[in-house]
Amino acid sequence: MSLMIFMWEEISVMDERNTPMRTYQVCNVMEASQNNWLRTRHIARDGAQRVYIEIKFTLRDCNSLPGVPGTCKETFNMFYYESNNANLWFIKESQYIKIDTIAADESFTQVDVGDRVMKLNTEVRDISNLSKKGFYLAFQDLGACIALVSVRIFYKKCPFTVLNLAQFPDTVTGGDSALVEVRGVCVNASQEFETPRMYCSADGSWLVPIGRCVCEPGYEEHKDGCQPCRPGSYKASATDAYCTKCPPHSSSHLERASECVCEKGFHRAETDPRSMACPCSAPENPISTVNETCVTLEWSPPLDMGGRGDITYSLHCRKCSGDRRKCMPCGNGVHFVPRQFGLSVTIVMVTDLQPHSNYSFTIESLNGVSDLSPTPRGAVIVNVTTSQTVSVVLKERRSKDSITLAWQGPDRPNGAIVEYEVIYYEKNQREQNYTVLKTRSNVMTVDGLKPGTTYVFRVRARTDGGYGNYGGEIELETNMLAIGDPNQSTILAVSITGGIVLLIFLVACFVVSDLSPSLFLSPVKLPGSKIYIHPHTYEDPNQAVRDFAKEIDASSISIERVIGAGEFGEVCSGCLRLQGKREIYVAIKSLKAGYADKQRRDFLSEASIMGQFDHPNIIRLEGVVTRCKPVMIITEFMENGSLDTFLKKHDGQFTVIQLVGMLRGIASGMKYLSDMSYVHRDLAARNILVNSNLVCKVSDFGLSRVLEDDPEAAYTTQGGKIPIRWTSPEAIAYRKFTSASDVWSYGIVMWEVVSYGERPYWEMSNQDVIKAIDEGYRLPAPMDCPVVLHQLMLECWEKGRSERPKFGQIVTTLDKLIRDPASLRDREDPTTPEFSVSTMEEWLDAIKMGQYKGNFTNAGYVTLDSVLYISISELVKMDVTLAGHQKKIISSVQILQSQGTHVQV
Ligand code: AMP
Repeated sequence: MSLMIFMWEEISVMDERNTPMRTYQVCNVMEASQNNWLRTRHIARDGAQRVYIEIKFTLRDCNSLPGVPGTCKETFNMFYYESNNANLWFIKESQYIKIDTIAADESFTQVDVGDRVMKLNTEVRDISNLSKKGFYLAFQDLGACIALVSVRIFYKKCPFTVLNLAQFPDTVTGGDSALVEVRGVCVNASQEFETPRMYCSADGSWLVPIGRCVCEPGYEEHKDGCQPCRPGSYKASATDAYCTKCPPHSSSHLERASECVCEKGFHRAETDPRSMACPCSAPENPISTVNETCVTLEWSPPLDMGGRGDITYSLHCRKCSGDRRKCMPCGNGVHFVPRQFGLSVTIVMVTDLQPHSNYSFTIESLNGVSDLSPTPRGAVIVNVTTSQTVSVVLKERRSKDSITLAWQGPDRPNGAIVEYEVIYYEKNQREQNYTVLKTRSNVMTVDGLKPGTTYVFRVRARTDGGYGNYGGEIELETNMLAIGDPNQSTILAVSITGGIVLLIFLVACFVVSDLSPSLFLSPVKLPGSKIYIHPHTYEDPNQAVRDFAKEIDASSISIERVIGAGEFGEVCSGCLRLQGKREIYVAIKSLKAGYADKQRRDFLSEASIMGQFDHPNIIRLEGVVTRCKPVMIITEFMENGSLDTFLKKHDGQFTVIQLVGMLRGIASGMKYLSDMSYVHRDLAARNILVNSNLVCKVSDFGLSRVLEDDPEAAYTTQGGKIPIRWTSPEAIAYRKFTSASDVWSYGIVMWEVVSYGERPYWEMSNQDVIKAIDEGYRLPAPMDCPVVLHQLMLECWEKGRSERPKFGQIVTTLDKLIRDPASLRDREDPTTPEFSVSTMEEWLDAIKMGQYKGNFTNAGYVTLDSVLYISISELVKMDVTLAGHQKKIISSVQILQSQGTHVQV
């Protein structure tokens, strides 16, 4: 460093190792009015906006200098002056900007210089927002005794790094505390999947990585780069993670293959996924079952499997004109259950077809024997025609000689409805006499009927496209002459009591082609009993989100406050205002920034699952925001939050009927889920939400939730993570998760509810719980628990899963209890855990009423025997005013009275 000196001297001294050291010193302490400046030459900024100055110096303490006047200083000042001119000879004092006044630090390190001991101080200051070519640094002494040993000037950089296959260059940090946004450059043989970006922070570290690059087809990720696929493997798409082995009967001879070429004699169509094995012989005996707009296709494996077991099937769907001369691919709207490609089963259900339309399905078999097949490309074609019926009769009115019917038209008619046709006949008299009536409206009164006679009715619609199929039969009986209330009206099909009628309408099936009736016993559930579709059955998980969740414009959401923390980010409450609808309160889950692709998929999987459900006891999905960031899931807002916290907060405050009402709601939601073949796996009070009307709704449906989200989940010896205390023994032992294992968890939820959020099995370890359950131990009835409820819990905890009640039965049982509250009066003897308490304080702690210890002591109830005859009015005087708490204390006092031997007073 070359410095300009005014009264400062450049002096050589020896450091502790006796090496000469240059210092700049000033020590005019004996004279007043000092103003001595020491200035550096021009220091180039080098692009940095913020530079750091580290100075090392010694400073004599004025007291250590004999006879110095009071003007002696123990500080000096540091200044800078920014300039583009590197050759300034003179800078006026007033032009400098002060950086700081520097004083000696308390924590000196000691340096021996000759026979003196000097205390070496180190101070660091910074100057930010520099914009000119460079700056001058200056030190001002006002009468101290200083030696400047070193001045080090530096700036910070975020070092070159590679993240998510993007390179981020050496980046100089910004001024003040601003972050510098840097766009990454994809490494060789990779391409942007989402613009890679990071922020370089003021302290030189990289923050908030966003976006990523992915290896181009033919390359896979390896360390921080992309390496070519080896011969014999391929990678078709940039978004596939790794190269995979060539599918059967195909090969790649060179590196970096993006597809494997079929061996001679094998072919693959242009539209086939590259992962497909090269095709083989055709499936046999295809049969189709049409149910309105759904088709079930079933076939047999090819006759000659060539001794191989690697057969899979794929379907291609085409929609055809009336004469089947012209066909077009079906597009995205059609769904295949379990999936369209790579099927290992020989049955598939195709849903969401257009009504009254012709379709042609090609079923291809894919394995190594396609060359043995006489059929080209190993495929068979099935033609079907869809239909649609008038679905539900909503209402009927009867008199002695007339019946009025009302119905709902087809969901998606193939054209404008021209009229409806009603056919009816006397039961068992169809051959002899039936009548056909027509109407343009969807209500019809049929007159002239015989009193007290059963008639069968069916309805079909006619559109410009022709007649639809008849809906199922409905049987109705006219009133007897004597009874005659002509306006009697019954709601059918919308209530459970009308369920039989509804069922007849919904399961109306139509068999096209010569099928055996046994097809109706097929393992695939037929439409009408809607089944849950696992998002994994989709090749593209985003399609599942599009199919089941409505996209919401972010501008229609206003976020108000944070209400919780989820696995993927915060949960907030806010308002949703959709066009033409009133504003509603919603919960908003957002995906935190910097997520990986898999996290986004897992996060949105919750929406694609939730969006398939529609039930008052299942949390309702309002929609998703996926087109802008942050990605969000919007659900109905549940004012009282999660059930476990809610119950703990309101300990003892509900009537038994209210508790049973909550349990009934949860069971009803679970019945709906089990009817849809959805297994929850993590049913627990913490995963139930409660609204302001005490309605409980089942929530938490994400795919990763049991594994990553639930703090209760623990690793089992099999390696998976399971919430042990809520899970059935067979699910823990060998992962047999079924609706019956959900019933076990439901029993635990019952116990949590009745005990107001107590922890199941208290502080027992997970291992002890598993052992105790295996030995036949079951949770005892919580305090004040009606016998019938504990009985129901015990049934849910039957070891044999087939012996546990079904959710439908649980709902029925709880309904009966609600209708007959007397049945809930019989309470379990709440003696568990047994009291073995010796003081009033221990007793209150044992019954979780420890908060009242002070009230008891102040009222003079200091020993345990003094509380034995306490009354409710005494409790009120003591300020124990909550009815639930009073009840709890009094019933526990009664136990104390009866349990004299356990109480060691
Ligand atoms: P989750 O990620 O679903 O476990 O949600 C975390 C927390 O956010 C829950 O425990 C609730 O306290 C709160 N929360 C989630 N969804 C809702 C909702 N729909 N209404 C009110 N609170 C909610």
